[in-house]
Amino acid sequence: MDLKKILREVPDFPKEGIVFYDITTILQSPEGLRAAIDQIQDKLQDLDFDYIVGPESRGFIFGVPVAYNMNKGFLPVRKAGKLPYETKSKEYALEYGTATIEMHIDAIQPGSKVVIIDDLLATGGTSKATIELIEELGGEVVQLVYLIELGFLDGRGKLEGYQVDAIMQK
Ligand code: 5GP
Repeated sequence: MDLKKILREVPDFPKEGIVFYDITTILQSPEGLRAAIDQIQDKLQDLDFDYIVGPESRGFIFGVPVAYNMNKGFLPVRKAGKLPYETKSKEYALEYGTATIEMHIDAIQPGSKVVIIDDLLATGGTSKATIELIEELGGEVVQLVYLIELGFLDGRGKLEGYQVDAIMQK
């Protein structure tokens, strides 16, 4: 199934001049949802790994079903203040200001192999901060998989040295 055909492009969201890639039109299609999860999973078929990490909140949507299907654990990365136990935090730059993401300090056993799944790779800032968190907790990032990659923003450049895969290029 060609997911590009059902991905909705919303102009001027969240502000003028930005095109937002709206995955809800994929999620609402039974065939689209299945194809998205299957296609992400196909990228990981021969890989040896222990956990899938998904950044809040669209990383949860695609990360959990793949983890379930492949019999792996799922580790959420959340915005600051949401996780109840002791956390490690990482601040990173946004276009205006900063954001902070967190993981539980005992989420990863040192030496664990981790895959990051998210809906979209833009500048790579979210993923880079997530990689740093995982590595500080003793994990090794063996692959990153996205449904959509915005090539013109060169997020891949920021993630040099890591294995990056995407289902759709925009
Ligand atoms: P980055 O940190 O690579 O610049 O931005 C990627 C993050 O922002 C991802 O977690 C993604 O969910 C979100 N994001 C940025 N732009 C879009 C977009 O157009 N569509 C969707 N679905 N998510 C976006």
